[in-house]
Amino acid sequence: MFQKKYTLKRINTLGHSIPKNIDENKFAINYKADLNSAQFEAVSAIDGAYLIIAGAGTGKTRTLVYRVARLVELGYDPKSILLLTFTRKAANEMMNRASLLLDNRCSKVNGGTFHSFANLTLRKYAKVCGLNSSFTILDQGDTADVINLIRSQAGFISKEKRFPNKQTLVKVFSLSVNTGKQVDQIISEEYPHFKDYIDKILEIQNIFTGYKQKNNLLDYDDLLIYLRRFLFDLSPGANSILSSIKFVMVDEYQDTNKIQAEIVKGLTKLNNNIMAVGDDSQSIYSFRGADFRNIMEFPKLFKDVKIIKLEENYRSVQPILNFTNQIISGAVEKYDKKLFSNKTGGELPNIIAASNENLQSKFIVEKILEIREEGIPLKEIAVLFRSSFFSFDLEIELSKANIPFQKFGGMKFIETAHIKDVMAFLRIASNPKDVVSWYRVLLLHEGIGPKTAQKILDELAASQITIKTDPASASSSRHNEKITKLFQLLFRIHTEQSLPSEKLQLVLNYYHPLFKVKYDDFNKRSKDLEIFQNITEKYKSLDNLLSDMAIEPIIDSVVDIGDESKENEFVTLSTIHSAKGLEWHSVFIIHAVEGFFPSGRSAEKLETLEEERRLMYVAATRAKQNLFITYPMNMYERESGTTLSKPSRFISEMNSDLAEGWLLEEDF
Ligand code: ATP
Ligand code: MG
Repeated sequence: MFQKKYTLKRINTLGHSIPKNIDENKFAINYKADLNSAQFEAVSAIDGAYLIIAGAGTGKTRTLVYRVARLVELGYDPKSILLLTFTRKAANEMMNRASLLLDNRCSKVNGGTFHSFANLTLRKYAKVCGLNSSFTILDQGDTADVINLIRSQAGFISKEKRFPNKQTLVKVFSLSVNTGKQVDQIISEEYPHFKDYIDKILEIQNIFTGYKQKNNLLDYDDLLIYLRRFLFDLSPGANSILSSIKFVMVDEYQDTNKIQAEIVKGLTKLNNNIMAVGDDSQSIYSFRGADFRNIMEFPKLFKDVKIIKLEENYRSVQPILNFTNQIISGAVEKYDKKLFSNKTGGELPNIIAASNENLQSKFIVEKILEIREEGIPLKEIAVLFRSSFFSFDLEIELSKANIPFQKFGGMKFIETAHIKDVMAFLRIASNPKDVVSWYRVLLLHEGIGPKTAQKILDELAASQITIKTDPASASSSRHNEKITKLFQLLFRIHTEQSLPSEKLQLVLNYYHPLFKVKYDDFNKRSKDLEIFQNITEKYKSLDNLLSDMAIEPIIDSVVDIGDESKENEFVTLSTIHSAKGLEWHSVFIIHAVEGFFPSGRSAEKLETLEEERRLMYVAATRAKQNLFITYPMNMYERESGTTLSKPSRFISEMNSDLAEGWLLEEDF
């Protein structure tokens, strides 16, 4: 008898496969030269679960970009790579970078935010998910409006005692979805004074859920809920998507919440190929249920996680790193990371006290001009702030000095009332059951108040009137001429086979007179309408247009943009939240005032105070060469007049050898 020999061959590797003996010369990119050894290890990994946890500017995002390029070079289908990031802008930028490194194949990678990926998947598999594929997405404002409607209709408001307002309800319901906590637990932890109302609050949540189902509406959280359900319910649809996605990568993992972590888990169920990168010290989205401890849970969520650490910072000069290391060393709970830089030279960060806010603005304008004189382009300069309204005074000074700027974060184009008006018409055209939009459109008309609007909504609900029948033949005689005209318009844009831009044109013709009556500054606002027209030109499908707009508004309102702004030559004004992951040659952080940054309310609790500290850390680590932190010493408040302010505790506790202090006086 002879013995048969068997060799064991792994077919579905759960472990880590970092192929050995690969000839690096066969690649178009010289990976070994462009990356340090820890980065190279991550980039050349193929199968398995990896967590890269490392400080700011250590090349986490760069590692993901190079890994995309390398997988494509190795012959994997770009469409089998899913890159989840925080904003669509970030995803596009990463794919552009990979395309520049390698070639256009990298632009075919699947990339986006959790929400945009959910939207696409749910529309594709709507049937299996029990959805109608033309569902409407409610943005946060709409969600609050619906809840308010339910709250007042169902008589939940008692005069004697305070009942939670619409914003609070939205927040509680959303936190419950994103953290996995029960509503009553959130109420007793965060709003104990509403404990008596728990039954009513749950009832509102119930009605809200039913209402959305009936009207084919999904809010942001529903996108995630439905996606999770779809992934874990092993329908053929889920199986086919799971086997088509071979690699999942997530940037900024520290800002994911529980449901997002579960989605990642669901997405990698078949292949277990996941690479997540993040930095617990930069977790700044707890208001959306993110918890920096989540990133530490990652090794428990996946099998055999290999942790890779990066310690060299390639972004900032050493004096800036010393300064930012000091900010974060004040954090109570953190995982120690020591950052060092090989970048030589660099000056100490500057802390500048200005006697008032306007002087702060004037100083920044002068400094920006000075930096530009040194040959640094405006796009390498950013001004960062805790809250969007801190930059108003500066915006005026920048405009006076003819310095083009663009503002990110804060009030978005799509959140402006006039764009919401126009969108409401289009949303009815796409989903005639979208009651929120009906309400908005009806109220635009003079002579129609909340009561009449509600009556018409009731008739719509009872199908006594509908936009599906030609209003000319319907018995709408009970309504006045205005309503007939409105129904004619809606009938037309709903039924006609036309492009979104053509439908918009009809809406604008109708809307223009109403718009002029409603807004005093309609001249300024009409630019936004023009921009919106340009955007719609790019779309062939109304549903695609509407969901892109709802999930991720791409541009800011012109009300926020300096007139001179050319494509690329502008100073960036941004909230710190929107500056995540980015970097500039020179960075200004303004309004570093106690009571504002950290805000008075956040200073009351250790957890929220810690998050403010991380925000300061995120802001300061954006700087490559120059860092200026400014604060006005006198602030004007409507209630108390001008008051003396104190610098933010995050900078006042700084050792004097880590930063240079300046006092800016009036004779500027
Ligand atoms: P953040 O935490 O702020 O998101 P990050 O860890 O993602 O930062 P990157 O943005 O990827 O860091 O990298 C910071 C800068 O350092 C970038 O300009 C990047 O190109 C550069 N960089 C990173 N690694 C290297 C390297 N090995 N060689 C040269 N430059 C590098
Ligand atoms: Mg990054």
